[in-house]
Amino acid sequence: MNFPAFARISSFLFAFGALAIAAPTPEKIIVLKAARLFDGKSKALVQNGVVIVQGNKIVDAGSNLSAPADAQVIDLGDATLSPGFMDGHTHLTADFSGNFAQRRLDELDLNVSEQAIIATTHARATVEAGFTTVRDLGSRFPASKECVDVALRNSINKGVVVGPRMLVATWGIGATGGHFDPTSGFRDMLFGREPNETDGIADGPDAIRKAVRFEVKNGADVIKAAVSGGVLSLADEVDTPQLTSAEIIALVDESHRLRKKVAVHCHGDQAAKDAIAAGVDSIEHGSFLKPDTLTMMKNKGTYLTPTLMAAEWIIQKMGNYPPALQAKAKAAYDARSEMFRNAVKLGVKISFGTDAAVFPHGQNAKEFKLMTDLGLPAIDALKTATGNAADLFGIAQKVGTLEKGKLADVIAMPGDPTSDITATERVSFVMKEGKIIRNGAPNVPPVAESGETPPEIPAD
Ligand SMILES: [Zn+2]
Repeated sequence: MNFPAFARISSFLFAFGALAIAAPTPEKIIVLKAARLFDGKSKALVQNGVVIVQGNKIVDAGSNLSAPADAQVIDLGDATLSPGFMDGHTHLTADFSGNFAQRRLDELDLNVSEQAIIATTHARATVEAGFTTVRDLGSRFPASKECVDVALRNSINKGVVVGPRMLVATWGIGATGGHFDPTSGFRDMLFGREPNETDGIADGPDAIRKAVRFEVKNGADVIKAAVSGGVLSLADEVDTPQLTSAEIIALVDESHRLRKKVAVHCHGDQAAKDAIAAGVDSIEHGSFLKPDTLTMMKNKGTYLTPTLMAAEWIIQKMGNYPPALQAKAKAAYDARSEMFRNAVKLGVKISFGTDAAVFPHGQNAKEFKLMTDLGLPAIDALKTATGNAADLFGIAQKVGTLEKGKLADVIAMPGDPTSDITATERVSFVMKEGKIIRNGAPNVPPVAESGETPPEIPAD
């Protein structure tokens, strides 16, 4: 190219660039069509579903809407459009699947930065499975204060990493020797000091307040605490209360003052009563809750996050866990089916949550079938992961339903999930904030169980 030609082109580009700044072209419109649509809140699907997206927002959604001229139309055929699923209980920075003792050793071995890099694959698998938002309820690494969940959330928000929108808890708050005490089960002083409020381990109302404040200072969006014992911890009983009423009242008061929701890990019935009375926003797990406790939840509007997948996985892989944990897992598993049936019968508000990390990330949707098998109608199961979750998370004004003005988090699954709920496990289209993350086969192989080789990417 000779110089004058170059000058002409560059002056043309300059003029064109100036023009583009003066009159920005409107953002491209994408029209998503499918045989059916679930809007995240209604009692039934509608036929001939259409979602019209411009930029990162939904412009319109409903049945038989006509596509604006010049729109890009994506016809997904015999499929169901839905708001992006939301999982209220994940641990994207962790992998608790595989052998318990080996995992405990690996955690001491791996650099936190290496675990953070691995976590990006968990985030990718989760969003590719159709989960466009998660509440990540606890992230910690032995003898480290790195908030990898905060880093992952921020990297996803900046577009550096592909993953779901995350609301993160930093480290779980709990009592000395309780479910979240990271030094429990290890020789005393192995890590050089007792954990304190700045590790989330707090005894007494003032220490609990300090822990909440410290977490918010470090980037927590939601506060997580263990009010009862747990399954995958070595030095506690699964159902004993671990915080006093005074401590839980301080926890809720301080969190709500800072406009953060409170999610409590709770298997035990007495601990749940104390937590519900104190005004927590959700009970996570809830294995041993009795009907009168569930009635308290119904009356107070407290959400249940059932995490049926967690116990289901552990029960199928019992040999991976030491005998003490096997006994706790079995007790929780045996109790939870009746608890869940009672919760459905009593009309307790349910928000979808799985405890992903206990099983490999990306299998979250298997929770749907476990819920419908225990009596929750399919349409209500779909609501737990959309409208209900958005309400519990406190972001219903932005996501959770397919409505004009909401962020365009839209997924599609084959067929009709109300006649075959396992369609939720075969999500094949994922859009997050107007950007298509997946259309057809997944872009990445599924996350393998810890210690196993990842399988190939399935063809479709
Ligand atoms: Zn959990």
